[in-house]
Amino acid sequence: MTRHISILGSTGSIGRQTLEVAESCGHRVAALTVNRSVELAEAQARKFRPELVAAADESAAADLRLRLADTPIRVAGGEGGLLEAASLASADTVVTAVVGIAGLKPTLAAIDAGKRIALANKETLVCAGELVMARAKERGADIVPVDSEHSAIFQCLQGCRDKGEVRRLILTASGGPFFGKTRKELSQVTLEQALRHPNWSMGAKITIDSATLMNKGLEVIEAMRLYAMPPEKIHVVVHRESILHSLVEFVDGAILAQLGTADMHLPIQYALTWPERTAGPAVPLDLLRCPPLTFHQPDLEVFPCLALALDCARRGGTSTAILNGANEAAVGLFLDDKVKFLDIPRLVAGALDRVEAKPGGYDLDDIFEADWAARAAVHEMMR
Ligand code: NAD
Ligand code: MG
Repeated sequence: MTRHISILGSTGSIGRQTLEVAESCGHRVAALTVNRSVELAEAQARKFRPELVAAADESAAADLRLRLADTPIRVAGGEGGLLEAASLASADTVVTAVVGIAGLKPTLAAIDAGKRIALANKETLVCAGELVMARAKERGADIVPVDSEHSAIFQCLQGCRDKGEVRRLILTASGGPFFGKTRKELSQVTLEQALRHPNWSMGAKITIDSATLMNKGLEVIEAMRLYAMPPEKIHVVVHRESILHSLVEFVDGAILAQLGTADMHLPIQYALTWPERTAGPAVPLDLLRCPPLTFHQPDLEVFPCLALALDCARRGGTSTAILNGANEAAVGLFLDDKVKFLDIPRLVAGALDRVEAKPGGYDLDDIFEADWAARAAVHEMMR
């Protein structure tokens, strides 16, 4: 089984691990895209020899064009370059590993081109999930999750012929670096502490989302869209050891789970090879060395981002795009050391109060408008 893949966001955490899977399993790389990390993009391009490399940043694209002038590799720039990489004829699969709503248009372009989507970019489903899933169904494009929890659920559902047999989905959460802390303690935490995730090494934005538990909220919405499940059938349980990656409970009481080490290579690889399995770089779990498995209720008072997301999950419409836009803006400010950790939920809640959400039946313009208004509301609150 050889896939021809375009990787959107190849220099990020998921992008780099996708290249490791491709190298180890013999998948071909058709296109790479980056934002502006030209040096790594050049090295990746020289090693994997894709047909196309695109940089979202135009000046980075110009730089890359010079760097790769001695190769036959084509270099494109701007949003157009990303869209071209997403719909390239020689690729059969697109790994969406960019961060944020920037992934939405390229994902739709890949769907329109009938590609398999190996979806890491959860923000796309959070912002416009109904629209994206409907488009994929219409075009016959498979969306296979890369997010470890959703991959676990996807794997557990493989033998399930009737969705009515599912009682609930159980998403596990590591709890992040601040599990067990009080709100008062959280008011003092630093950016450096928030960036130190206990179990996973990931990009900065998702690492902060994991510390606020917004990540789990985004994942509840992602699961609703992927599996067409109402929010009340999706439960979150804190599981500090990150060994059970998520579970499905069936109507007869059976619970299936997927277990493994905290390693994204496996979910990335499965999204490429599904419905087949192949050998790959993931290190299997050694049960005899496993710590005891623990489970806790998430604390919605100490981690209000999860409560805000669950509320938007129930409200639907453009509220989830407002949630996401405000969160992207607030996390950006936190990463720039402009606000404190507890300002993140405060700014997101403030944006949700200020921006009116449109109920269901939205289009793409409504989503971008909601995203823009949410970011503007966050910056307004900073003045
Ligand atoms: P990252 O920050 O490490 O990498 C992001 C990539 O996207 C980089 O290649 C960057 O150049 C590119 N990029 C950033 N902004 C862009 C823009 N505006 N336009 C075009 N390209 C842009 O992020 P990551 O941790 O790899 O996460 C990527 C996505 O996968 C996120 O949506 C995240 O939630 C999801 N995800 C990540 C993990 C993980 O283990 N890292 C696990 C589950 C889901
Ligand atoms: Mg996850």
